[in-house]
Amino acid sequence: MEQINVQCHCQDNQKHYLNRAFDRLRLSESQRELLLASFRETTISIPLRIHENGAESVRTFSGYRVQHNHARGPFKGGLRFHPNVNLGEIRALAQLMTWKTALVDIPFGGAKGGINVDPKALSVTELEELTKRCCQKMSPIIGVHEDIPAPDVGTNPQVMAWMMEEYSKTNGFRPAIVTGKPVELGGVKGRLEATGHGVAHLIRITADEQSLDPAHCRVAVQGFGNVGSHCAKSLAAMGFKIIALSDSRGGVVAQGGIDVSKAVDHRKETGSLSGLSGTKAISNAELLELACDILVPAAMEATITCDNDIAIKADFIFEAANMPITHMADERLRKRGIVIVPDLIANVGGVLASYYEWVQNLQQYPWDGGLVLSNLEKRLSFVYQQVQKLAKERQVDLRAAAYEIAIGRVSYAINLRGF
Ligand code: GLU
Repeated sequence: MEQINVQCHCQDNQKHYLNRAFDRLRLSESQRELLLASFRETTISIPLRIHENGAESVRTFSGYRVQHNHARGPFKGGLRFHPNVNLGEIRALAQLMTWKTALVDIPFGGAKGGINVDPKALSVTELEELTKRCCQKMSPIIGVHEDIPAPDVGTNPQVMAWMMEEYSKTNGFRPAIVTGKPVELGGVKGRLEATGHGVAHLIRITADEQSLDPAHCRVAVQGFGNVGSHCAKSLAAMGFKIIALSDSRGGVVAQGGIDVSKAVDHRKETGSLSGLSGTKAISNAELLELACDILVPAAMEATITCDNDIAIKADFIFEAANMPITHMADERLRKRGIVIVPDLIANVGGVLASYYEWVQNLQQYPWDGGLVLSNLEKRLSFVYQQVQKLAKERQVDLRAAAYEIAIGRVSYAINLRGF
């Protein structure tokens, strides 16, 4: 059995993929050292008054911001609220952001932050207080040209609005301090859907290349948060057949296809997918093992491991979540001929749209509606082509090719700047 600890999994995966790329790029020990080291790792504690069953108590949460590398531009990356958040996980995810921004060639580096809190267990007022205190303590190290947070697991446009408000109190009106804001506050149309839509766009390109008819292409999406739900919505609009969906409580399957907008409404009304008319209940584990053409893990890290990889029947896996597959399972799946489109490219639509938002905020010049998603599609198509081309030339998998491009760019930037 593969022992999985999320903190170790994220770090192990990064180490494994990086070492492969470093060897292929023939990087020296000192170049490797420069690429691996975090620029700064900040830990804060956030005491908060909590009201539970009529009683008041104080709980102290831990917050982290890891700023990995800024050779190519300001640090950029999400802020996650999840009970399992820890420094090791955040460090690995910060590195992943550096490679993502380099791969799509936007002028950012990589960072990630998080608080070890279950946001669903707090009231709205408590969540606002927690977010604003986190922003206060982080404000010396963030900035519109230094480090720009964004939503991630457990955070959303409202959380970004609170961050912007708190930062602006001492720095003046600064919408560019965070991305993924509500449209009314300088956010952009398309940012909310961008990550999921980007995954769907790459699936559409792949289906085209493989001459797969979307109407007969069975897709299973695990995770129905912002990424999974928008991916499913975009795929449905593109004519794909969504046969299964799930959220943290469980999933539903319908071989004839699920009406995604009905699933969204049903979840809004009842709080879960279960009982959606025309579907049968399944567990998250069963969803992963369904006979389908395309599997989209869009929930958390380490959902596909050496304990369940053998049961996977999909021909293609698109990593909508960050690091949903352990590197050992990744190798075994590839040996079976399963094509994996890695997180590095599959879910990069989010930060790409963030970049378009940041540019508009800095210029105080909003683009016409629709331009964010059309630019995003164009850039993603180009990058996917580059990655596929390199993978073919080098006879390597897509992940290896993507890492090679990204690391090559960051390493070159470090060398040019000197240190
Ligand atoms: N949290 C997202 C990611 O992991 C987006 C980050 C951003 O927009 O800065 O890619």
